[in-house]
Amino acid sequence: MRLVDVHFGGSPEQIGVYVVETGDGLALFDCGPSSTLPGLEAGLAEHGLAVTDIRHLLLSHIHLDHAGGAGVLVRRHPGLTVWVSEIGAPHLVDPSRLERSARRLYGDLFDERWGELAPVPESNLRIAAGDVLGWESFATQGHASHHISYFMNGTLLSGDAAGVRLPGTGYVLPVSPPPDVDVDAWHRTASAIRARDPERLALIHFGVHEDVSAHLDRLESELDRWAARVRSGMDQDAFVAAARADAGDHADRYDRVAPFWQSFAGMKRYCDTHPAA
Ligand SMILES: [Zn+2]
Repeated sequence: MRLVDVHFGGSPEQIGVYVVETGDGLALFDCGPSSTLPGLEAGLAEHGLAVTDIRHLLLSHIHLDHAGGAGVLVRRHPGLTVWVSEIGAPHLVDPSRLERSARRLYGDLFDERWGELAPVPESNLRIAAGDVLGWESFATQGHASHHISYFMNGTLLSGDAAGVRLPGTGYVLPVSPPPDVDVDAWHRTASAIRARDPERLALIHFGVHEDVSAHLDRLESELDRWAARVRSGMDQDAFVAAARADAGDHADRYDRVAPFWQSFAGMKRYCDTHPAA
């Protein structure tokens, strides 16, 4: 498994995708947004690879930081097969709704941050359910309803299902953007991951972490802490200040890749629509 840092926003250790082996040649696990495709190509070249050496793209979910570049990538490499959850697939074929809601969220920042959002031709798409070229794909909802992860030989390609954790830190951020973060579903996902007893978690943000049990414990406790804060009536400013304090010296780095204000919005929406029992 090879980690490729795509240098999101020109910075290291923000978005890293993976080149993995499959039963049908090399695959990329997530691809990042269109804005970092030059970074992806440069990173692949460091491993002696070109985009056209990759046969499959395994997507965790359709958020732009993970899959925004898929359409442009297929345009450059029409032989690429793209695997995605059934719920995510229609949004790759027609990304217009996804783009509209992201533009509402990001405003003027959209183009520089994400770049072009191009459709993926239906003929390049495959639905990931169960076996995917030797990897076990399974639903990992919580961060998003359309999220899946892939497992083989002790390695979990987790995407955002195991949260965000920057190298050299112990803080696990339960990144929860709107619209469909689900705290209960996320706890079930943590159990589903533990049940497979992985030896390593391959995060997109960022890198491989091998203290799996402690990592998942931290993910679940941070998730509950955030939900409790929102349910106690914290507003956005107070929530962001508290979350920044949790992240300590690394707060700015976390905020760049998973903005705290956005997680507040997602968590608020969840708590408003799911009253505490
Ligand atoms: Zn996401």
